[in-house]
Amino acid sequence: MQPHFDGATLQSGDHTRLQTALSRVWHLMRDGQWRTLREVADAVGCSESGASARLRDLRKTKFSRQHPTREVQSRRAAGGLWRYRVVALETYYVAMTDPANRRRDIVAVVQHDWGRRHDAVRAARTLHPQCTPQEVWTDDGQDFHVLGQCWECGQPILDSDEEVHRGTGHGEYLCGTCAATDAAYGLRLGLKPEELH
Ligand SMILES: [Zn+2]
Repeated sequence: MQPHFDGATLQSGDHTRLQTALSRVWHLMRDGQWRTLREVADAVGCSESGASARLRDLRKTKFSRQHPTREVQSRRAAGGLWRYRVVALETYYVAMTDPANRRRDIVAVVQHDWGRRHDAVRAARTLHPQCTPQEVWTDDGQDFHVLGQCWECGQPILDSDEEVHRGTGHGEYLCGTCAATDAAYGLRLGLKPEELH
């Protein structure tokens, strides 16, 4: 087992790097959320000017070998306050089988927003509609199996997903979002939860 930090899998040795302010800023900002310099500074324990300098560092290429496409965006909010966010792309590898030719396995390489592996699987499916995605992994070693897809919305279902329901009689999966919607709809119809699927 590799150690976990904020939901991401890290190689051993990364914890040392996390000590640096640059890494702390990156690990905070890679979720793509807009933040003020004050919020960044408070979260990583540095000054606002330090946070500003680390955001500038993030634009430099030497730190971004694993995440080659990354940009720091800024926008001015009401009251003249600036907010920043980091948009990062990650390379996903999606192993797929072709049902028409069972001997042929392919790996689709997809660039997508960091942490959006479901969307990467979806993109791979669009690239190779005849193929069935089996596995998705990234350069940092995170590897997930594709169990199937939600029979209602088509969202890929990975073995890391929580809140996944099996649709009896469908032989397929229902994602948490659709299950919640169905439950709300069923309750409006006066159905008991066990009668929904
Ligand atoms: Zn769904």
